[in-house]
Amino acid sequence: MARKLAAGNWKMNGTGASLGELEALVSEGVPQGVEVLICPPAPLLTRAAALAGDIAIGGQDCHAAVSGAHTGDVSAIMLKDAGASYVILGHSERRADHGESDAVVRAKAEAAAGAGLQAVVCIGETLDEREAGQTLQVVETQLTGSLPDTASASNTVVAYEPVWAIGTGKVPTLEQIGEVHSALRAALVARFGAAGGDIPLLYGGSVKAGNAADIFAVPNVDGALVGGASLKAADFRPIISALAATVAE
Ligand code: PEP
Repeated sequence: MARKLAAGNWKMNGTGASLGELEALVSEGVPQGVEVLICPPAPLLTRAAALAGDIAIGGQDCHAAVSGAHTGDVSAIMLKDAGASYVILGHSERRADHGESDAVVRAKAEAAAGAGLQAVVCIGETLDEREAGQTLQVVETQLTGSLPDTASASNTVVAYEPVWAIGTGKVPTLEQIGEVHSALRAALVARFGAAGGDIPLLYGGSVKAGNAADIFAVPNVDGALVGGASLKAADFRPIISALAATVAE
């Protein structure tokens, strides 16, 4: 059984004033049986980690190298030093904006594991790929190429995020989510054996309070990676509660 994780990706949103939203989440506590993760912009990491309590803090990317001449980048050990325990890698926005390939994501995942961070490795098809019937082929190729051989439940989370569902309000049907998650679970078990059954599989793409419970009821969905609805505590809290309800059942 994989652990349950509600992860928030603030993307390039927020200044110090936004930490009030994190404080509001912290004040409610983390329900039993689930983990909650907030990934703020890098300049907020240290301040976020200082007030996060039981909520885990993560970066949104890291460089594959430990240090060096890479202006503007941060390394995995820098994130760890700032108080992060997770890092999102291979988000479709980074794959699109920065041309990150599966091999690049895999090198970053190795660096993250080396620094003692858990990597949230993102994969997902474009609308064209879905309409061409290539979804499973695309996500399985990304999964294989993006995960290092050392991936395990203690250093890796996989997030299935259809590119066309991110920030659009469009969500795949529950059947479509179930089909992909079941294929990803099978691929993880085929590669990593029983340990592949314990790697959390998150769904991401326009998750909100109104659809979270239905999505969390889909087999092999172990939580969510949430963008827009993680920016406000009032929007993220019901998603966390919906995940906690699956544990209480
Ligand atoms: C994301 O940024 O990973 C994401 C899923 O965004 P949203 O929830 O806004 O679609």
